[in-house]
Amino acid sequence: MPLDFLKRRGGEPSPSQPTPQASVTSVILPEEAVAQEHQLRLSFSGKSSEGVRMNSGPAAMAELPGMLDGLGKADVEIVEPLPLEYSQATPTIVRPSEAMQWLNAHHMQSPIARHALLVLESIDAVDMAFDTFVCTLLEGELDTSGYPEYNAIVGGVASHWDEATGDMIARAVVGWGGRGARGDTDRNGAKILGGLLTNILASPHAIGLTSVVRPAQAAGRSGVACAHCGFNSAHERAFYCPKCGMRLARS
Ligand SMILES: [Zn+2]
Repeated sequence: MPLDFLKRRGGEPSPSQPTPQASVTSVILPEEAVAQEHQLRLSFSGKSSEGVRMNSGPAAMAELPGMLDGLGKADVEIVEPLPLEYSQATPTIVRPSEAMQWLNAHHMQSPIARHALLVLESIDAVDMAFDTFVCTLLEGELDTSGYPEYNAIVGGVASHWDEATGDMIARAVVGWGGRGARGDTDRNGAKILGGLLTNILASPHAIGLTSVVRPAQAAGRSGVACAHCGFNSAHERAFYCPKCGMRLARS
């Protein structure tokens, strides 16, 4: 195979010409490399309340956005649980397959909802394989692109279906974070969480507080399709459709 393209223009250097390497006279190895420091501190925080058991069945879904009344500073958005095809979705950019799933699943959402999902999924406060999440900006400012600032508080109400009873369990969830932190954000987050929980408990269908036992996601990809809404659940042992709350039919 001819390797002409490797030759320098004008042909090979003659042995009398010094090569560039020859001009480096000496290299003293330092005991320690002189380092410039580079660092980025990212901090994500959040809080979630106990669950509130709701006895209204699938109709309870319609009540979720109203639980943010009086607390939201932007439009309320509903993020539905992800179907099986997005079961690996994770907001981690160095894992392209997971990141692509996450972007494909969430690129239609507003910057506020995407920021909320990034923060709350990163700290495992919501799990979009099972949760329905109604969220908005709860406190603070947006940047010029519409994304919440690091000290803005986002969140709302997350709900899932209790596998033992089929009841909807709703809980308050708030989060914040990014490049920075402020001392009073945690306190404000706790206050807003209390306001959200009060709103959830004010629902006529609320039975009372319950501990939150979130369903475990199936390891495999053998999902179950819901006969009522067609949702393909990533949860192979689920009895209730994560999306519409109806009982899943088994073959
Ligand atoms: Zn369904």
